[in-house]
Amino acid sequence: MSVTCCRANMADETAKAQLAQPGGDTIFGKITRKEIPAKLIYEDDQCVAFPDISPQAPTHILVVPKKPIVQLSKAEDSDAALLGHLLIVAKKCAEQAGLTKGYRIVINDGPEGGQSVYHLHIHVLGGRGLQWPPG
Ligand code: AMP
Repeated sequence: MSVTCCRANMADETAKAQLAQPGGDTIFGKITRKEIPAKLIYEDDQCVAFPDISPQAPTHILVVPKKPIVQLSKAEDSDAALLGHLLIVAKKCAEQAGLTKGYRIVINDGPEGGQSVYHLHIHVLGGRGLQWPPG
């Protein structure tokens, strides 16, 4: 994947995030309920993981809870164990993908955070050197 390709995708994703509206059912709700197909690489009673449809790095996996939490800022204290579990699953997915040199975990929140799908999810990005600060 070229850098130019990633930059173009980033612009698209930023535009989508500005237009996205919280609320209602989302594509991730449909995937977690198996109403639409996705190539699941992990599943347990609390979450699923699958490749991002528009990868921003050679490895780009999404870890999505089955509970439809809208976004991180709407999570409650009672979600603490679930949030911890999602991080452990993200770590396992990174290991399974062979990301031995490191990787990045991202949770976008709200329009300025670049969130485009309002069902909480963790991005696992790796397989190339990642820039800091992010755009
Ligand atoms: P965010 O912008 O943080 O809300 O991330 C949403 C992500 O979901 C983006 O990276 C999209 O490429 C990805 N995405 C949207 N629809 C699908 C889908 N059907 N399968 C896999 N990834 C998707």
